[in-house]
Amino acid sequence: MAGKSFKYVILGGGVAAGYAAREFSKQGVKPGELALISKEAVAPYERPALSKGYLFPEGAARLPGFHVCVGSGGERLLPEWYTEKGISLILSTEIVEADVASKTLISAAGESFKYEVLIIATGSTVLRLSDFGVQGADSKNIFYLREIDEADKLVEAIKAKKNGKAVVVGGGYIGLELSAVLRMNNIDVTMVFPEPWCMPRLFTASIAAFYEGYYENKGVKIIKGTVAVGFDTHPNGEVKEVKLKDGRSLEADIVVVGVGAKPLTTLFKGQVEEEKGGIKTDAFFKTSVPGVYAVGDVVTFPLKLYNEQRRVEHVDHARKSAEQAVKAIFASEKGTSIDEYDYLPYFYSRAFDLSWQFYGDNVGETVLFGDNDPKSPTHKFGQYWIQNGKVVGAFLESGTPEENKAIAKVARVQPPALSLDEMANQGLTFASKI
Ligand SMILES: Cc1cc2nc3c(=O)[nH]c(=O)nc-3n(C[C@H](O)[C@H](O)[C@H](O)COP(=O)(O)OP(=O)(O)OC[C@H]3O[C@@H](n4cnc5c(N)ncnc54)[C@H](O)[C@@H]3O)c2cc1C
Repeated sequence: MAGKSFKYVILGGGVAAGYAAREFSKQGVKPGELALISKEAVAPYERPALSKGYLFPEGAARLPGFHVCVGSGGERLLPEWYTEKGISLILSTEIVEADVASKTLISAAGESFKYEVLIIATGSTVLRLSDFGVQGADSKNIFYLREIDEADKLVEAIKAKKNGKAVVVGGGYIGLELSAVLRMNNIDVTMVFPEPWCMPRLFTASIAAFYEGYYENKGVKIIKGTVAVGFDTHPNGEVKEVKLKDGRSLEADIVVVGVGAKPLTTLFKGQVEEEKGGIKTDAFFKTSVPGVYAVGDVVTFPLKLYNEQRRVEHVDHARKSAEQAVKAIFASEKGTSIDEYDYLPYFYSRAFDLSWQFYGDNVGETVLFGDNDPKSPTHKFGQYWIQNGKVVGAFLESGTPEENKAIAKVARVQPPALSLDEMANQGLTFASKI
């Protein structure tokens, strides 16, 4: 099949790819120079919407409403935008082979794409229970959520199984957000996860206790300390029952699995240097191969603030790393330089009428402040993380924009901590004084 050739190619069509395209345009890319190749059938969109507004029972978010870059208050890049800018938006095209030596990508249909500069923005893929050999894991109505076509299938199932029963496997971001939105659709929801509390990678037991209590008040049942080990099905192949390791079994019309993700580095294995499971880059998102950059979920990059190589699977980093890489590409063409990437980790989530933000590092001693009673109508609480006498991380539920800004500043500035009692008493006042 005929080949195409571009000066710049973005491989991927997710958050990082979309923000990279916008930055290319800002930097003055010329018509015909840039292509974005994605296996998805739609232009880049704000992926976090899939587990939130996209599944709402009423007023659900739909494309073109949440194409990038609306999630950060920017311009919405509709497919026409790419045409106007002379950017080739090549959709429904999966790249199955990459050869960095000859600067060539090959699609599943056998088409070849040459580039001078490549940005790898392939993101992550979900971990599947079938990968772990869980019996019956391929039954119908067992869902994962990464891309919009999967969200569409889940929407169909929610409609088809009105007032039915769902089991949500996993107690992380996806598990918590999906449990909430399924419940909002009047589905009977049970969450199952092996850890002693939800979101254990970020939440402490006291933070988790609030969310678990809140969810239980909304009617979500939570089963901890066990895992799904198999599924029984109806004769039509649809899931009927989830079998748990502890011997219990749960009826289910719908199962949603959120047990983690892994970065999509496979195409480049052995061709670019990797570290900590991701593609290793410098502070400008250059990989070990000249002319090849990588951004978003897929990279392990220097997190300057902590003097450590890290991988971050969050949307804010996807956006910012993409912008940094494109700025670096243009700077190197002009022979100028830009500042190193200096990222402050920022995670957030929204579910029911809750909304939390976290900034910084969740290491060291912790101190909780505020009203974290899940039954309280005025709940609002937070937590600081303290290491070596400095406040290095801050979490806040139900903060105002100003309060969220204040906790972000704390995590960036890392002020000396007060005694734990004083920190608990001062709460947000501590942050507002920094
Ligand atoms: C349901 C859901 C909810 C989320 N909610 C939040 C949240 O509330 N807050 C938060 O901070 N983060 C959230 N995240 C994480 C966030 O969305 C990701 O960190 C972000 O999307 C990463 O951007 P990316 O561009 O690196 O990868 P992605 O957005 O995943 O994009 C990767 C793109 O590459 C394409 N691709 C991959 N391989 C190929 C190939 N071989 N050929 C062609 N195309 C390919 C994929 O189809 C996809 O379009 C959520 C993620 C999901 C799935």
